[in-house]
Amino acid sequence: MQPHPFANRTVRMNNCIFCKIVRGEIPAAKIYEDETTLAFLDIQPVHPGHTLVVSKNTATKNIFDISPEDWLAVSRTVRKLAGAIEKATAADGINILMNNRAHAGQVIEHPHVHIIPRFANDGFEHWRKSTYQDGEAQAMQEKIRALLANA
Ligand code: 5GP
Repeated sequence: MQPHPFANRTVRMNNCIFCKIVRGEIPAAKIYEDETTLAFLDIQPVHPGHTLVVSKNTATKNIFDISPEDWLAVSRTVRKLAGAIEKATAADGINILMNNRAHAGQVIEHPHVHIIPRFANDGFEHWRKSTYQDGEAQAMQEKIRALLANA
C-alpha cells in the first residue's frame, strides 16, 4: 500500500492542520460554516469536490471522544451538503466516510467526515468482504451487546 501523502506530518491535538483552518490561521477552500462546523475542499481530492466536514471543537480527535452534540452537528452539515456536492460534481453517487485512528486511515487527529463524489466506472473498489463461520456472528453480537449494556 502507498504511504499516505501526509503520513510524515506531525499532527498534534489542538494544533493540527484542521484546528488551524478552524482558527483561520491557514487558508482553505471553505464551502460552508456555522457555529459548530466547517466544511472545505480536501487539498488532495479523490475527485474534485471531495469535501471535509470538521467539528469546530478543537479539543477532540475522532468518533471516540467527540460529544454526541458535536457529532450531531457534523452529521447535520454532511446531510446539508451532500446533495449540493453531488449536483455540483454531476456525481453518480456519494461516499460518506470517517477514518478513526491511524490504522483505520486517520491522518489528521481532528474529527472530520469525508464527502466523496463517485462516478460510474471510476475504478474504486468497495471493501473486501468476508464471511462468518458457524456461531461467530452470534458470539460477536453478544459481545457488542454486553459492552453496550455495561457502558
Ligand atoms: P484522514 O486520512 O485523516 O481521514 O483525512 C485527512 C484528509 O485531509 C486527507 O484526505 C488530506 O488530503 C486532507 N488534508 C491534509 N492536509 C490538508 C490541508 O492542509 N488542507 C486541506 N484542505 N486538506 C488537507
